[in-house]
Amino acid sequence: MVRKVLSEGPGPGQRLRGTPPRLVLIGPPGAGKSTLTPALIERFDLARIATGERLRAEVAAGSDLGRAAQEFLERGVLVPDDMMDRVLRACLDEIPVGKGFLFDGYPRNPHQAEALDALLAETGRPLTAVLALDLPDQEILRRLGGRRLCTGAGEPWTLHVSDTEAVARCRAQGGTLVQRDDDRPEVIARRLAVYRDETEPLLVHYREAGLLRTVDATGLPADVQARALGALTAAQ
Ligand code: AMP
Repeated sequence: MVRKVLSEGPGPGQRLRGTPPRLVLIGPPGAGKSTLTPALIERFDLARIATGERLRAEVAAGSDLGRAAQEFLERGVLVPDDMMDRVLRACLDEIPVGKGFLFDGYPRNPHQAEALDALLAETGRPLTAVLALDLPDQEILRRLGGRRLCTGAGEPWTLHVSDTEAVARCRAQGGTLVQRDDDRPEVIARRLAVYRDETEPLLVHYREAGLLRTVDATGLPADVQARALGALTAAQ
């Protein structure tokens, strides 16, 4: 069944029936959003907007935005809406006209969902689907507690400490395993609570809009990928 979905989907860069997918990916921290996105991006030739990564890059660069956002990231709470409004505009300006896109980590509360709907309507490119990754809390805590970044060997990539093969690959590349500051246990609990309180209610909004596709995010990345591609193919 999994193979069937994959083999019948469009090839890399192909669009479904001419409309470039304009997607939002929603899911609790640790659900595998950043593991899933490369496959979607390649398959549909999408621009990717990952607000968490963008904010971390601003913090690392020491920009005004980064300095203002840093304390919120460290506490595991949402960066205030006025800052995120500016981030959203900058992100949207970077997407070439006519290109599909994937938002990863935005919107995260009702204000952001409204801001996104309004800005997309202004430019005549409404969302075509919202993918919601679904994962029980227990599995989220297991994944995040063991999540590490392999850094210092090109582009950082994510792995789980229980994946001995990935750990060996990182070491062989000369990389180092680093835990994200906001993957510390006390911050994980807060991020999860923020997700349940502020972000999860958005699913109702998108269900009513007829855009929601829920994807079971348990199991191996390849399985989640096949489910997500299947859900998107069905969504068009
Ligand atoms: P992520 O990598 O998506 O888990 O995001 C890491 C952190 O960046 C979050 O815990 C927030 O502090 C901040 N962040 C990312 N995206 C947003 C957003 N859309 N709104 C507010 N804060 C955000």
